[in-house]
Amino acid sequence: MTSLNDLPLRDDLRGLTPYGAPQKHVRVELNVNENTHPVPENVIDDIMGRVREAMTLINRYPDREFTLLRDGLAAYLGHGMTRDNIWAANGSNEVIQHTLQAFGGPGRSVLAFPPTYSMHKIIAAGSGTQWLTAEREPGFEISPELAAAAITENKPDVTFFCTPNNPTGTPVSNATIAAAYEATDGMVFVDEAYAEFAPVGSDTALDLLAGRPRLIVSRTMSKAFAFAGARVGYLAADPAVVDAMRLVRLPYHLSALTQAAAVGALAHAPEMLAMVDDIKTQRDRLERELVTVGYTPYPSSANFVLFGNVANPNDTFEKLLAQGIIIRDVGIENHLRVTAGTEQETGEFLAALAALNGTLT
Ligand SMILES: *Cc1c(COP(=O)(O)O)cnc(C)c1O
Repeated sequence: MTSLNDLPLRDDLRGLTPYGAPQKHVRVELNVNENTHPVPENVIDDIMGRVREAMTLINRYPDREFTLLRDGLAAYLGHGMTRDNIWAANGSNEVIQHTLQAFGGPGRSVLAFPPTYSMHKIIAAGSGTQWLTAEREPGFEISPELAAAAITENKPDVTFFCTPNNPTGTPVSNATIAAAYEATDGMVFVDEAYAEFAPVGSDTALDLLAGRPRLIVSRTMSKAFAFAGARVGYLAADPAVVDAMRLVRLPYHLSALTQAAAVGALAHAPEMLAMVDDIKTQRDRLERELVTVGYTPYPSSANFVLFGNVANPNDTFEKLLAQGIIIRDVGIENHLRVTAGTEQETGEFLAALAALNGTLT
């Protein structure tokens, strides 16, 4: 049998492992921070009408500039954004890839603050961008001073922040982002995949965009919008950044069906986001009840909770899986991460964990 090592693969890809969150279909799926609430039926009906209409022109290439979608995303974000500020792709993973294709690549570097989203490192590898890291402060914080010092030391071409951070749930303040921007001549990329779950009035780097052309803020429809399967992510930045993305995207990268579906979802934004408050309630419940069953959850501004004091994460993971409940081992010693699900799912997870632990809830 041929193995990877037999192929003339790029040397810098040898020995790497692909993204591999287990994709098991079980009763309670709380492992990849999806919105576990389905899209409302009336919204499905409207989206299907739009997709049907797009089918009548499917013999033609789609709008390469996905103009309606950019208009919809700009209107959703507010903050004075117009379509010229917006770029979109097949998931924010592709937005990150476009960013590193344009601003990273061979001979260039990206700085990140682990533990953070595992795809950041994998996309750096795929684009041949050197991966540099700096440590966080206790509680997974990044102060303005720490960010500026790490950038001065590492001189990266791109700096990644993730706020609220996956997998810890920790927010990064605008003071930190602004200090990082001042400390570098490179790009500053802020992954705000979970922004909609943060407390009302939380910082968003959207407020920093004016006058900062090297700043990029990325969002996704995969989490709060319950649209993970559609693959739609986007960024807001200076129009010049959007021009840079045009240099590296494949022509017509967003299918007509994706565009139609996403425009439909945005037209129903309030209904699509209706479950966000419920999910936040379940996240806060996880924060409280994980303590009751003997674990140490970190404060989270996202739709998941990282918790410590897990004697054997792999064992706990497997025992929950045996009961049809999947959560995530993110590779942090004595920790696991769980997504806030529906009230029912979250309750099942907490009850199973309490039973494993011999604690009563
Ligand atoms: C889930 C997630 C994304 C979303 O990726 P998509 O490609 O948009 O589905 C982006 N960033 C972080 C930090 C995430 O956790």
